[in-house]
Amino acid sequence: MNAMSDFSSEAMRARIAQHLTYTLGKDKARASLYDWRMAVSHTVRDLIVEPWFAATRRTYEAQGKRVYYLSMEFLIGRILEDAMINLGLRQQIEAVLAEDGIALSDVIEDEPDAALGNGGLGRLAACFMESMSTIGCPAFGYGIRYEHGLFRQRFEGGRQVETPEDWLNQPHPWEFERPEAAYTIPFKGHVHDGVWTPAETVLARAYDTPVVGWKGEWANTLRLWGAHPTELFDLDRFNSGDHTAAAHPEALARTLSRVLYPEDATDGGKELRLKQEFFLVSAALQDLLRRFRREYDDLNLLPEKVAIQMNDTHPALAGPEMIRLLMSDHGVEWDAAKRIAQGCLNYTNHTLLPEALESWSTWLMGRVLPRHMQIIERIDAEHRAATDCAPELGIVHNDQVHMGTLAFVMASHVNGVSALHSDLMQNTVFAGLDAAYPNRILNQTNGVTPRRWMRLANPALSGLITDMIGAGWEDDLGRLSELAAFEDDAEVIARLRAAKRANKVALAEWVRERLGVTLDPDAMFDVQIKRIHEYKRQLLNIFETIARWQAIRQDPEADWTPRVKIFGGKAAPGYWVAKDIIRLINDVAAVVNNDPLMRDRLKVIYPANYNVSMAERLIPAADLSEQISTAGKEASGTGNMKFTMNGALTIGTLDGANVEIRERVGAENFFLFGMDADAVQARYLVADHGRKAILESPVLAEVLQIIADGRFSPEEPGRYHGIVDATWNHDPFLVASDFDAYLAAQAQVDAAFKDQDHWHRLALRNIAGAGHFSSDRTIRGYMDEVWGARSLL
Ligand SMILES: *Cc1c(COP(=O)(O)O)cnc(C)c1O
Repeated sequence: MNAMSDFSSEAMRARIAQHLTYTLGKDKARASLYDWRMAVSHTVRDLIVEPWFAATRRTYEAQGKRVYYLSMEFLIGRILEDAMINLGLRQQIEAVLAEDGIALSDVIEDEPDAALGNGGLGRLAACFMESMSTIGCPAFGYGIRYEHGLFRQRFEGGRQVETPEDWLNQPHPWEFERPEAAYTIPFKGHVHDGVWTPAETVLARAYDTPVVGWKGEWANTLRLWGAHPTELFDLDRFNSGDHTAAAHPEALARTLSRVLYPEDATDGGKELRLKQEFFLVSAALQDLLRRFRREYDDLNLLPEKVAIQMNDTHPALAGPEMIRLLMSDHGVEWDAAKRIAQGCLNYTNHTLLPEALESWSTWLMGRVLPRHMQIIERIDAEHRAATDCAPELGIVHNDQVHMGTLAFVMASHVNGVSALHSDLMQNTVFAGLDAAYPNRILNQTNGVTPRRWMRLANPALSGLITDMIGAGWEDDLGRLSELAAFEDDAEVIARLRAAKRANKVALAEWVRERLGVTLDPDAMFDVQIKRIHEYKRQLLNIFETIARWQAIRQDPEADWTPRVKIFGGKAAPGYWVAKDIIRLINDVAAVVNNDPLMRDRLKVIYPANYNVSMAERLIPAADLSEQISTAGKEASGTGNMKFTMNGALTIGTLDGANVEIRERVGAENFFLFGMDADAVQARYLVADHGRKAILESPVLAEVLQIIADGRFSPEEPGRYHGIVDATWNHDPFLVASDFDAYLAAQAQVDAAFKDQDHWHRLALRNIAGAGHFSSDRTIRGYMDEVWGARSLL
């Protein structure tokens, strides 16, 4: 037997011990938790290598089409437990470690989150990587190996404080460095007769992490690029005594992969960001072209063998860069180069918010990437000539390069991420381009991987589901519909309720340890976790919290449904309104949690530093999922799907994928409120809509008065005058106009929660309807309708 295919506990124990000794250089008796984690991680990684090699071999032999997923963000989270679960080894390793007195849960918790993303967009890329491996779709993920991922969040006096994140402070056991896979990335300089002489270069070096799918049958590669200097060290300078300056080239190069930009849904327009985007795109394309040339001679075959997905516009330079590489390195003429590039490229749009549509000044683009500016202008000229479009539909307009238009023009397929979002693309922001390029826009509704978001995060529920419908639902999530047959089975409902309660008890314990607040596990856990953004309307939720607090104070002995309001999320460091909202939530929490009249009737909790592993803890313990964005603003959402598959009920607007979730779980099992996207558009036309809504809502008027009076900030009564004033006078996301409807829906939620059997019957229906939201379904959609790729499993 091959040593690596011996999965016995004895073999596993020996391998972990070997890694402790020979990889970590530690005596078992003196090994720390860190040593154990490294040894276990290396052991598990070893077991992925074989399916990983096999996948590469099979793709090569089958001459299969490869998918290249280009994304500036991969919000991976922890890797160890996910890998163990997909290999089916979690229980066994737990038992093996227990023999040495080591708790697997401690080892798992010791791993830092790989937080190479801001939020939904980056987490989607991570779910897609796992689903492509589960399905056996040959794929590479390409991204940047940021030394510092998303900042760590702390609260000081209720305010968000950012500190650098340093996940690479410790060795990262999952990656393989590839010194041989390195490419020169050029910047700046000048162009003569189409020949570019760059003024700066850096080296992109590959770091590979295998991503193993469910049952360990296939593994693809996540290839992250680290920036290194092309010239290591300025020896002349060093020898002449200037020791600090001698290290300059190194420092300069490394800044390119130093930090993830902490912006979500807004663009900073910074030169370093543009350079990062080009760094990713150029390294990825040079790499995939080299791989292609090893297998094929005819570059015209590229669209048949290669599909490239641009995750948002951040990699939109892939169009011009592919044309440049094909022309300068491979001798292809303009027309053919452009046709080949278009044949390979596809673009996923993630937002219609005008402030989030990426653009770069022609001045900056021309300075940083002079050759690409020329190529973009030629693409634009041909686009304008071919479509005879209005001037504002050009790629270059008002001295700005519009990256959405560039991506659209250079793509074979353009997709939105929910049915509503794709419709809105066609009818609003992209209506002109849709008319110029009919049938280019299609929809691929997002999904999430049930391996991480159910099996890993919620073993109690997962076990119950397997008991009910048998094994094998994890990669065939449509089978959850079989659960509907049990909705009148009192024992199943009782077990579902017990599983949820156990998760809530565990969360309450974690909250008590971290925040010193005691929670009643029988209270409703009402959860809103996501980036803090005005359009996501955390403000609506905290206003309702304040109204509830007031109502309880006025009549404490009434029949209240006890609630715990749980918030989580980070604000971009320069987004002052969002940071004020964070502070308000924390200030409200301090008042409410210390109010003797509240007791368990109302608590407000806001644990700092929301990330993937916190989501894994909170979502399985949620009764209520808050998905309350202004209709038309949230492209899809994926948090909403995670909650639904874990048996939380949703209070939500008709926005993003909420629409499809409601259709699948049944309208009677979803707490809908508020204006739809059309009503929102109409409401914006009403002058003074915020003021009008407040004058019609005594409850909201009182909430705003309480805030204005400084009740949550007695030491600084004017602290929230900005928020109050904006709600009266601007209310850009219609918080006031939707407030009463939200209040009414929350009253329905309270009433429904009182009948726990009824509530959990609704929860069961939600789980039964969640099968559609597996990212496996999404990836199959892309394979069939966008990439033309097939599974090799
Ligand atoms: C799923 C997820 C998101 C996206 O949440 P939305 O509610 O869809 O915005 C953001 N951050 C983390 C850590 C996630 O796991």
